Amino acid sequence: MTGEIAPDTILSVQDLKTWFVTKRVTAKAVDGVTFDLKRGQTLAVVGESGSGKSVTSLSIMGLLSKPGAIAGGKILFRDRKEQVHDLAAFAPKDFRKIRGREIAMIFQEPMTSLNPLYTVGDQIGEMIALHEPVNRQEARSRALAMLKHVEIPDAASRLDDYPHQMSGGMRQRVMIAMALACSPSLLIADEPTTALDVTIQAQILDLLRRLQAEFGMSILFITHNLGVVAEIAHDVVVMYGGRVVEQAPVNDIFAHQRHPYTRGLLACTP
Ligand code: ADP
Ligand code: MG
Repeated sequence: MTGEIAPDTILSVQDLKTWFVTKRVTAKAVDGVTFDLKRGQTLAVVGESGSGKSVTSLSIMGLLSKPGAIAGGKILFRDRKEQVHDLAAFAPKDFRKIRGREIAMIFQEPMTSLNPLYTVGDQIGEMIALHEPVNRQEARSRALAMLKHVEIPDAASRLDDYPHQMSGGMRQRVMIAMALACSPSLLIADEPTTALDVTIQAQILDLLRRLQAEFGMSILFITHNLGVVAEIAHDVVVMYGGRVVEQAPVNDIFAHQRHPYTRGLLACTP
């Protein structure tokens, strides 16, 4: 046992500190972040640009770029075998078992995460082959099944598309297909709809909700837009200046938010 995590909780971030330390300055990007994500639920992390949302998610995934490093706290994660790991204490090689298989991530701009030189079918298949012993044909049929799950119309004919042949919304669907291809129990979505126009945003939120009902994964949904939160989240964490100023059920946030910063954020929400 690595630490305290409630039985219904898949991820418990406890007093996480992630700093960028150079000889000249110490930037405390994340400076005491605490929140819990219950299994099968969606927790939204909201906060203005620069409040430490992405650094928090990169800390969980072990994807920090130098000189970023975890300076304190715990990231307790319960895997599918009910084993609890402290990801804050993981060495880079430990993440190989976790990334993609247990925890997947999607980002704001799918074009930067997809390889322009490979077809989407090959990329999804490759992801599956990385974690499971599948032959080429199995990988391809699993990739096709995933494209159907994320509701890509005429999926069989899109399997051999290159990323640039698809629209932004379709590419984000491919990213979701790739993220969920190995049935991770946790999906981290860092501003997955920010680069998309409003109608496509709504479709992607809808899709994530439906996939959650189908696959049962937990979602950490990061956004600077409080407007999308009501659509998808059970609980909301509000971040400001590298800290959590509030965690509450989504209805409470909209009904009676306690922290003045949350009130300000709501006032700016259309
Ligand atoms: P958000 O995702 O909420 O917009 P970030 O987590 O990206 O914010 O950034 C939080 C803070 O950490 C910001 O002040 C940012 O300037 C700083 N930061 C992020 N990445 C780096 C880095 N590679 N080097 C130094 N500071 C960084
Ligand atoms: Mg960010």
